[in-house]
Amino acid sequence: MTTAQDLIAAADAHCAPTYHPLPVVVATAEGAWLRDVAGRRYLDLLAGYSALNFGHCHPRLVDAAKRQLERVTLTSRAFHHDRFAAFCTELAELCGMEMVLPVNSGAEAVESAVKTARKWGYRVKGVPGEMAKIVVAGGNFHGRTTTVISFSTDPEARADFGPYTPGFQIVPYGDLTAMRAALTENTVAVLLEPIQGESGVIVPPEGYLPGVRELTRERNVLFVADEIQSGLGRTGRTFACEHEGVVPDLYVLGKALGGGILPVSAVVGGADVLGVFRPGEHGSTFGGNPLACAVALEVIAMLRSGEFQERAALLGERLHRQLAGLLGTGTVTAVRGRGLWAGVDIAPRIGTGRQVSERLMDRGVLVKDTHGSTIRIAPPLMISEDDLDWALEQLRGVLGV
Ligand SMILES: *Cc1c(COP(=O)(O)O)cnc(C)c1O
Repeated sequence: MTTAQDLIAAADAHCAPTYHPLPVVVATAEGAWLRDVAGRRYLDLLAGYSALNFGHCHPRLVDAAKRQLERVTLTSRAFHHDRFAAFCTELAELCGMEMVLPVNSGAEAVESAVKTARKWGYRVKGVPGEMAKIVVAGGNFHGRTTTVISFSTDPEARADFGPYTPGFQIVPYGDLTAMRAALTENTVAVLLEPIQGESGVIVPPEGYLPGVRELTRERNVLFVADEIQSGLGRTGRTFACEHEGVVPDLYVLGKALGGGILPVSAVVGGADVLGVFRPGEHGSTFGGNPLACAVALEVIAMLRSGEFQERAALLGERLHRQLAGLLGTGTVTAVRGRGLWAGVDIAPRIGTGRQVSERLMDRGVLVKDTHGSTIRIAPPLMISEDDLDWALEQLRGVLGV
């Protein structure tokens, strides 16, 4: 019999070492629960970094995928297919926008938004050739491609991968004065996460996002909201921007859009912006494929009912009420977040984020550490109250409170 140890050793030997996974080998999953190769159960409090907002193997999503698998899975964009119009129309409508640019991964969608903003800058705003600038925030995470890591402030993500793509300016996140000072005539876009996920679930100060919206509107700059992790229900609304009444020019979506089944991403915006492209100027072999559209259409239908957003808001209150109770126990130094999404900074005397994650794993709860001392909690939105309470009981157990 192949044991978990054997499988981990083989993966370590034959996979490029870009990750340091927890030593659990998952075999099956359902809803918020995973089962390892030995049959042990774990509650998933990471949910694929929000790619699994609807839980593992949601029957509606699996059914949609199965039905499509037996019809047609790939046409390439050389031809039309019969799920494509509905996908574009319904996703645009969910976003309150007009047009969709379908791609696959999150990083690819960010790249597509960068190209959209640059082209819009040259063709619509009238920025002189090669001069377009995009303003981004310190602590950002927008993916792993060469251009995207060019404007990362994380040395791990960046070192040894230069030369870097020019045309980006980094300002501190949450600082409106710095944002105002950074915008010039050549600025084509501001690209921000409305809540910074990988950075440790950093919620900007109230008024920041509306302030950026006002500045960008005044200065004829596109506001591009990377809602790949914060969007599609996680924070208790369809989009995190909604909490402050902000409507960006472009949404960048990914993760949960593929229902945890396959990668599906998109840039969504107005026809005045996404309409700048001409055939041949951008594309993707798999972008907007029939299987992706079928699954995403079911995701959109599930979001349209509002039930997942409502659940995230309700359970989010329950989560944050209990996490707030940890403050003052000397075991955590800060708790942040919105909806069913939290970053918890662990006091050094308890251990590192990794150590806490390992101890939680031993108790049957899976989370992921970030930036050394933070653990991130982002369960599937369909998790039960009892399961959530049980997970938090395990966290209190690990912290010894
Ligand atoms: C995960 C993530 C990305 C990158 O998505 P991939 O599918 O991993 O390429 C980009 N932006 C944000 C905010 C993310 O959380």
